[in-house]
Amino acid sequence: MIKNKTSSEHLGWVVLLLAAAVILPTVCLLWFMTTAVRNERLAVRQKLVDMYSGRARHFFAEVPNLYFTGRFEHFNSYPLAETHNFFGLFAAGPDSPFQGMLIYDSDGALLYPAIAFYAGQQDSEPNLLLADKSKVTTEDIYQLLYPKIPGKFNLSPADIMRYRVYLAESFLKTKDNRLLDHLRTALDSDPFIDQGPAETIIWQLEKLIAVAQQADLTDNLASEIQSAGHRIIAYANALEAALRYPSVNRLGNWTNQTIRRLEPDLDLYGFKCNIQNQAVVGILTQDSALKILTASMRDIQDDMINIQITDNFGNVVIGNPDNNEKPFLTASAGKFLPDFTVSVSFKNTMVFEKAANRQTAIYTWTAILVVLLMLLVGAVSIRMVGRQIRMNRLKNNFVATVTHELKTPLSSMRLLVDTLLDGNYTNQRQCKEYLELISHENERLSRMIDSFLTFSRMERNKQVFDFQPVSPADIVHAAAQAVQPKMNQPGCRFSVLVNENLPQIHADKDAMTTVLVNLMDNAYKYSNPDKTIELKAYSENGKVCFAVKDNGIGISRRLQKKIFDRFFQADSRLSRSAEGCGLGLSIVKFIVNAHKGTIDVNSKLENGSIFTVRIPT
Ligand code: ADP
Repeated sequence: MIKNKTSSEHLGWVVLLLAAAVILPTVCLLWFMTTAVRNERLAVRQKLVDMYSGRARHFFAEVPNLYFTGRFEHFNSYPLAETHNFFGLFAAGPDSPFQGMLIYDSDGALLYPAIAFYAGQQDSEPNLLLADKSKVTTEDIYQLLYPKIPGKFNLSPADIMRYRVYLAESFLKTKDNRLLDHLRTALDSDPFIDQGPAETIIWQLEKLIAVAQQADLTDNLASEIQSAGHRIIAYANALEAALRYPSVNRLGNWTNQTIRRLEPDLDLYGFKCNIQNQAVVGILTQDSALKILTASMRDIQDDMINIQITDNFGNVVIGNPDNNEKPFLTASAGKFLPDFTVSVSFKNTMVFEKAANRQTAIYTWTAILVVLLMLLVGAVSIRMVGRQIRMNRLKNNFVATVTHELKTPLSSMRLLVDTLLDGNYTNQRQCKEYLELISHENERLSRMIDSFLTFSRMERNKQVFDFQPVSPADIVHAAAQAVQPKMNQPGCRFSVLVNENLPQIHADKDAMTTVLVNLMDNAYKYSNPDKTIELKAYSENGKVCFAVKDNGIGISRRLQKKIFDRFFQADSRLSRSAEGCGLGLSIVKFIVNAHKGTIDVNSKLENGSIFTVRIPT
């Protein structure tokens, strides 16, 4: 009892230690995992921020540089002396980088375009410089504009433009076929006339286009009308800008080679630079300015982020002004757009939630698998250690049992021998009885030692079987004979039922006899004084079955699984009445297995048992 308590205490400690060895790392793992999951969200965000910041840095530094440098090189090196040509090429052409321009002289006064402030007068009758207006004919004006002898009149560009309009409208009225040529000439740019006031240039071109439309000449003059349209826009933009920046000092501290929005309420942008010591402001419409920005942005834009660009007045020019997401990056838009601010924010924070969740799922599953694995390993170890401890306990019990079992027959033999030696018997019959008892004890001792030896061979895999074709009936008879003396005792009914014609089996006769003897021994041992024991052999489903039936104490369902284990005894008390050391059934099972057979037990507590061995034929 004391031994049992110590070993179960040991088992408790071992289980506790193993549980700690499994639970501690599991808890640590779970803790690491939660920390990793928390960090993952931050890490994912940081990863994305780093990626977009990298791309944005490229955008701020490289892309606008590449875009502008090529475009403005030509512009910077072109001679500025012919201002109207410069304007025409860079500000009024279909492929011009700008849509309007202001050119200042070296003193800072506006040089081009000319702003004459003729507002309200453009539409007035031309001053024909002739005394009597009523006598002036269309022919006179035609001669004036297209003189046979050039330079007859000294007309200003503004006057020429007004005459041109007058003549075109007259030709329209009289359906004069010189109208087409006149419009073609008048719509084209002219170095002298382009010196005229911007307002008049715009007015003149709009009037001439209107006449062309009325005269149904738009198809014939398509390209002229198109380039006139560009010039109208360029002069109109320049006019608008000139009203705000009539001289260089109104430009303020505007860094050269940079773009700014001109006014918060005006959709015009300017690129200021110094060309040959003269200040020049190239004007960009909102469309062209945004085109530059969007072209540069293309490299970083994707559907995860919002890009917002604000101009030098804080107006949002690109992006949704109502976007409330906090930007993760706010910076100036590079060398050419230093006064523009670019803010990059994530469209919604679900982006990293999603990315983090994906990563988290991987972590979680890995952790769950590792935890499960650890629990499994822990459970297996606990089971194995438990088994080992139980085994040790059984072995200890076994030693105690063996000693006890050996001691009993030895001491009874000694007692009997002493009695005989002392001559303490009354007659020959009593002497014979004592000798028989000694022989019985001897037999019991031999059987027990046989069991130990078989078990030992079994354990060391040294048991050798001699398989031969054997008749099942022979085995049954041999076994019955072996147990006959025991079964013949009073209070025991023993019957053998065997079909002599059963098919032969391939078996070791002695080993199979041991099987049946062990089973019958048990049937005898675990039955009450009024014993009924039956040994049967029959064939069933191509197998030969040996059944040993008793009316004994039976075995509970729970223990039925264990009785074939080595050293197992349902009642392990040393004081129990039945002899044995828990090896009989394990030897039986070992032998049956070696014969590729099966053994099962059908039993109920207090209702007897049937052990059936099935051996293939
Ligand atoms: P033992 O030497 O204890 O008989 P065995 O391996 O032969 O060892 O049997 C193991 C245990 O199975 C026995 O201790 C007993 O409790 C139980 N047992 C075996 N045969 C019977 C039976 N016929 N009836 C009841 N219990 C049995």
